Amino acid sequence: MSVPSKSPTEKIRIATIWLDGCSGCHMSLLDIDERLVAAADRIDLVFSPIVDTRTYPQNVDVCFVEGAVASGEDVEKLHVIRKNTRWVVAFGDCAVTGNIPGMRNRFPLREVMNRSYLENATHRPRIPNRDIPHLFDKVQPVHAFIEVDLFLPGCPPPADAIFEVLSALLENRLPDLAGRVRFG
Ligand code: SF4
Repeated sequence: MSVPSKSPTEKIRIATIWLDGCSGCHMSLLDIDERLVAAADRIDLVFSPIVDTRTYPQNVDVCFVEGAVASGEDVEKLHVIRKNTRWVVAFGDCAVTGNIPGMRNRFPLREVMNRSYLENATHRPRIPNRDIPHLFDKVQPVHAFIEVDLFLPGCPPPADAIFEVLSALLENRLPDLAGRVRFG
């Protein structure tokens, strides 16, 4: 794995995306707090749920992918990301293993849909046939579909671990996650 190398004056182009997750990993990213502000003059956030851009740009240095993969729509997004990004980070346990969204894998999709939209519905129970993507039978992690450059586990990954990844990018080195990530 090579680190996207930048001169000290160039900004790192960062993207984040939220597939099938709860946004907790993004909340942990924001928990970096004042350290994020200090690094702001070296970082360009070019795509994210927290910025307005709707089209994934070219020449992204690193993309943090939160969430598991559960639909063809998710896979299309991943291919666009992989094509336009030098470093893809599987960001959090859902992206790394499937984690919480993957808990539905023990049941047939039809049972999951019935439970969600019919049995537990208190108003107009019906299974939607539009406005939601076609779901796969099984949820899978990000690396089942595209090459991943770095796995950042945790539910969510600790802010210190996320900051170490950002610091490593800014310093043109590989991140040292020893002692900074939690498993399970
Ligand atoms: S890893 Fe945890 S915090 Fe992150 S999206 Fe999944 S459930 Fe939410």
